Amino acid sequence: MANPQFNNVRTLPLRTDAGRLMPLFNDQHMDAHKPGGGQLLYLSSQLQTSLDLDEILNQFSDEVKPFVAHDYLGYSNDEKSCAFSTGKNARHRLNYQLTLQDGQLGKLVLSRKCKFTEKETGEVEHLISALLYPLRNALMYREAIHAAQKDALTGVGNRAALNEALAREIEVAQRHKRTLGMIILDIDHFKKINDTYGHSTGDCLLKALTRTAEKTIRMSDQLFRYGGEEFVVLLPETGLKGVKNLAERIRRNIEALNCVCNGKHIKMTASFGIATLNIDENEESFFIRADKALYKAKDGGRNCARVAD
Ligand code: GH3
Ligand code: MG
Ligand code: MG
Repeated sequence: MANPQFNNVRTLPLRTDAGRLMPLFNDQHMDAHKPGGGQLLYLSSQLQTSLDLDEILNQFSDEVKPFVAHDYLGYSNDEKSCAFSTGKNARHRLNYQLTLQDGQLGKLVLSRKCKFTEKETGEVEHLISALLYPLRNALMYREAIHAAQKDALTGVGNRAALNEALAREIEVAQRHKRTLGMIILDIDHFKKINDTYGHSTGDCLLKALTRTAEKTIRMSDQLFRYGGEEFVVLLPETGLKGVKNLAERIRRNIEALNCVCNGKHIKMTASFGIATLNIDENEESFFIRADKALYKAKDGGRNCARVAD
């Protein structure tokens, strides 16, 4: 197993009391340069009961508190785009860059109103060694989940990601009485494009459409590849007018695209179904309404948008 490393580490032995971690503050123990195996094992086994990053960090904060009181614990990992915090940030801080031999694990911060003593600093550093492997496992799990929700060809969220996002956005919209828009778009006569130019050219067009749609939507909008040549955009806090405007902009940008795929210039168009969330509506009903609107757009001659009933 790789050795955990982090800045300014000093190990401090601990003992357990009735199954709970208890700090030892006497100098004799502080001078013993060996880890408090049983105690760290207890904390480590507690933290290993979960693969959820937030749960692990919350638990770590709770377990550390009896030894080193703190008002705030923060964690961030820029490379993996994740951040966590609990409590209120305060003036005096302990900062750690967490590292394992196989890579950086991110930054950990503990803070409070009064200064940390040297003893407390040692305690925190000692306990952090129990956090490293559970943290790494949680990060790997998170990455695996993200990879499973990503469409391999275009890099946007897949159907599984859409299902999750749709449930979440509907819940938020209904709780806060906000609007939620949905656009389903489908490339016109895509089968013919594949048949004429080949599957790899079809793939090239799918990627080009994705980049165009991504450039057109706002940061808060989310784009998914629902399947084959069908895409879905979720637009939080957007009313019907805004959804229609965006669908029209995407439609025009796709129509204007001059894709060069496998040395050939190819044009494409897409049709759009638009819906905004009704009060008390569930995911299925919302999606079906937008999908029916898409069929109306196909029936209406394609390369156009239609609004759901
Ligand atoms: P419509 O205008 O009615 O939507 O007609 P269409 O031809 O686009 O629709 P249809 O459902 O008949 O055909 C969809 C085609 O999309 C058929 C399928 O081979 C192709 N397709 C699905 N997934 C992929 C993919 O990942 N890559 C490529 N190149 N083609 C795909
Ligand atoms: Mg199609
Ligand atoms: Mg289709």
